[in-house]
Amino acid sequence: MSEAKPMDYILYEVRDRVAVITLNRPNQRNAQNKQLLMELDHAWDMAAEDKNVRVIVLKANGPHFSAGHDIARDETYEAKVAEVLGDVHSTGLYDLHAWEGKYYLGYCRKWRDVPKPSIAAVQGACIAAGLMLAWPCDLIVAAENAKFSDPVVRMGIGGVEYHGHTWEFGARKAKELLFTAKSITAAEAEKLGMVNRVVPLDQLEESAMALANEIAQMHPFALAMAKRAVNQTLDIQGQYAAQQAVFDVHQLGHGSALAQTGEAVLMWLDGLKPANKAS
Ligand code: ZN
Repeated sequence: MSEAKPMDYILYEVRDRVAVITLNRPNQRNAQNKQLLMELDHAWDMAAEDKNVRVIVLKANGPHFSAGHDIARDETYEAKVAEVLGDVHSTGLYDLHAWEGKYYLGYCRKWRDVPKPSIAAVQGACIAAGLMLAWPCDLIVAAENAKFSDPVVRMGIGGVEYHGHTWEFGARKAKELLFTAKSITAAEAEKLGMVNRVVPLDQLEESAMALANEIAQMHPFALAMAKRAVNQTLDIQGQYAAQQAVFDVHQLGHGSALAQTGEAVLMWLDGLKPANKAS
């Protein structure tokens, strides 16, 4: 079983039979850097392996669920870029493809298939890779102020690394949201079937926990099999294969941006100025 390790950006606790994982980098709007993702993965492992845990709740401290990947140009920026991109002049997209395949697509797929029900409790902004934390959860409870968007087309790329859009929004709405980079409200997300229920902000945690406690009464193996039934059906419909394929389409966007600007993403609406190297 995974030993609990000290964590800076994630809080982990078990309340009765519910594991509560909390994103705890509120001053950066829970932007995801490598450390946060590794800590989050560790928390998922602990919840998955703990026989006392029946249901997992993923929530976030602060006004926003997650602003996506951390692309801040701070003092560690060059080192972060070097780690992710490697030497593109000699190895092309080799390092980026492997890095994003592990920490982005790989983690999402792993969390999505943890054989216990999971619930994301989302408030405020859930942008781009923020979706990649909420979508792998089985259920989503949203606060009335939650907003969801994938504006990555603005960066010259056809969407985030984990393609949930077509299933979460439906094909036509997925295209509209990608093409316009606009966000949708919690109420719209509920109407599209992306969100299970919308609650007032001050009742978000309580609602998610009540739902988790209700589900935790059910037979754990039956829950695992119910989850597997739905996830396997999605995969037989092609979700797994599509996500692998679209991940490579995403890399094509990075490659195109690199060819145009020397950086792995660009800001199309900002006159093709180089932006950040890792999205
Ligand atoms: Zn990427």
